[in-house]
Amino acid sequence: MIALYPGSFDPVTLGHLDTAIRASRIFDTVIMAVFDRPNRKLLFSTEERVELLRAVASDYPGIKVTSYNLLTVTFAREVGAQVIVRGLRDPIDFELEFQMAQINQTLDPDIDMVVFMANRKFSFLSASIVREIAALDGDVSELVPAQVAQALKRKFKRAD
Ligand code: ADP
Repeated sequence: MIALYPGSFDPVTLGHLDTAIRASRIFDTVIMAVFDRPNRKLLFSTEERVELLRAVASDYPGIKVTSYNLLTVTFAREVGAQVIVRGLRDPIDFELEFQMAQINQTLDPDIDMVVFMANRKFSFLSASIVREIAALDGDVSELVPAQVAQALKRKFKRAD
């Protein structure tokens, strides 16, 4: 069974990766898909977000990486995914994900959403907090994979 894990991944964090790895133990293939045009300001381009995800996921044969710019359920159907994976950190995520699941169910009742409770080590972690810390020259090495920490340094033009 194929599962689609969609997100902005701006950038991918250890929390996202934890969810994808756990999903890949359950599903044959997990497709991490970068949403091309989220309704928010991006730090990394789609190409950069895909490249970082590919670098980070290369150790996991069950995880594939791509980008998309369709409705998520339309893209899920296109790649043959029966399941959409999401992560839940707190009750705020729950409200958003619950609404999204209900809408997706209305749009395509054949596709189910499977939600993974965040790993307690990463339940405080969001891509936006990572961007904020990195912009202020903070240490993000416990929050993101090494390749992402390096990319953030390059983005904010600091020497190693
Ligand atoms: P973010 O909220 O960090 O900007 P995305 O919009 O890319 O991330 O979210 C993609 C999915 O990953 C969402 O379902 C979100 O709830 C989930 N997610 C984000 N951060 C974490 C985390 N630290 N642990 C588990 N799931 C997460």
